[in-house]
Amino acid sequence: MDYCKYHPLDGATYACRACNSRQCDKCVDDAHRAAHCFVCGAVLESLGSANTVEPFWRRLKEAFKYPVNANSMSLIVITAIISVLAALMPFLWILSLAMYLFAAGSLMKYSFTCLERTAMGEMKAPDVMDAYSGGIKLLLQLVLMTVVLTVLVGAAYYYLGAALGGLLGFIAVFSYPAILIRFAQTENMLEAMNPFAAIALMAAIGLPYGLLIVFMLIMMTSVGVLHEWIGAVFPAMSYLLQSIVSNYYTVVMFHLMGYMLFQYQEQLGYSARSDEDDEGSQRSEQERLSAKIEVMLKEGDYEQLVKLYYHAFKQYPNEPLFFDKFFDLLYACKKTALMEDYGLTYLEFLNRRKRFDKLTPTFKQILFVAPDYLPDSPIMRVQLATLLKQQGDSKLAVKLLNGIHKLYPEFSGLPDAYNLLADILTEIPNMQLQADKCRQMAVQLKRKADERQAALVLQQEQKRVTEAQAHHKPTGVKAVRKGGPPSGTTISGLTLELVPLEPVAEKPD
Ligand SMILES: [Zn+2]
Ligand SMILES: [Zn+2]
Repeated sequence: MDYCKYHPLDGATYACRACNSRQCDKCVDDAHRAAHCFVCGAVLESLGSANTVEPFWRRLKEAFKYPVNANSMSLIVITAIISVLAALMPFLWILSLAMYLFAAGSLMKYSFTCLERTAMGEMKAPDVMDAYSGGIKLLLQLVLMTVVLTVLVGAAYYYLGAALGGLLGFIAVFSYPAILIRFAQTENMLEAMNPFAAIALMAAIGLPYGLLIVFMLIMMTSVGVLHEWIGAVFPAMSYLLQSIVSNYYTVVMFHLMGYMLFQYQEQLGYSARSDEDDEGSQRSEQERLSAKIEVMLKEGDYEQLVKLYYHAFKQYPNEPLFFDKFFDLLYACKKTALMEDYGLTYLEFLNRRKRFDKLTPTFKQILFVAPDYLPDSPIMRVQLATLLKQQGDSKLAVKLLNGIHKLYPEFSGLPDAYNLLADILTEIPNMQLQADKCRQMAVQLKRKADERQAALVLQQEQKRVTEAQAHHKPTGVKAVRKGGPPSGTTISGLTLELVPLEPVAEKPD
């Protein structure tokens, strides 16, 4: 059994020849009809479900442990005792036969339930009482099939001679498990007894079916050998022991037959996992992208990973899964440069999601990875500074707002930003002078902004008039555009050099 490269505990269902790797259902690109490799994009080879199930000969140890539990063992022993008692009462042959049939029937029914449950993927022996809830019809059919097979072989022996009868007997033994498996699958006696169906089943399973038969023969022989050994010393004891061992082997055999049905479910046109599989098989685009990201992360392909994440951010701007995971990844791996790029994207995402409580803690986390980081957005800076001021972290708030008019001369919230800065500085000792300067600057900025606004309105008015004139005389001279106040330079005359905060803070009051 092969395992998924990315999920070492899950069986692989696909293989990529190009990458020489094996993947499970989750780790493949199933957007198209044929699954593709997330890493190289090649079409994958399906390994089938047989691969996800261990072959039965690797599970022999577990198979022998299967009936070892108080429940199953008591049934095995009790039916053995009943059949021994039946053998000891030849004088009451009807009672003897009834007891024998009861014992054999009980065991058969239980074993068959084991087969069915194992075929459904249940690897624990069923409760004995559970096994008898199904009714007697199934049991009668089972007995009938066994009897028909025996009578057929017996008749062949009698009428066609030892050679042909022996051959038919061999064929009957060889196909008996196939008939049982088929019966478990269809619950139809005629269908199960159809020799073509049995042949088709054997062909589908192939060599492992032969191994199962060999295994069955070994078990049968071992019961005989056991009888030879002990029978010489304790004849009665031997019969009981032999009966117990053969009952035990019967349960193991039926469990193995069920296991075979489970293992070759796909080839046998039957699927034990189909119910759960069908629901999960149609993944959404988002789940697929998420799976691809997982694979790229485990591959260590960070370039591709970052690309995928940014694609996800664009595609699903409100999906916390992608944003949070990428942030956690960058934080955990201390990717300074990537964090500097991503910081604002994540802060704005938190804003969109109204997670204002997380803004400043996240900002501090970013600073831990990228100490020089400042978000490249005046709105975000003001927002963070406002929050930091409330939390009493004036130093960081000042750092966010300092020089903001140089960086973002076009920012319309500049006067408010400087009023905020002034308020923050007021709270810091020995910063009164700076605070006053800031307030003056806010006033100046406000005036400049108003002037600019007025100029803009004027300009628009002029443009409108010009257009109206142009409408009247299309060949008219183009109006000379006066242009608004040169952008950026308007405020450049103003400078505010803030005194570094550290020495101030150290000064005693
Ligand atoms: Zn996987
Ligand atoms: Zn590949």
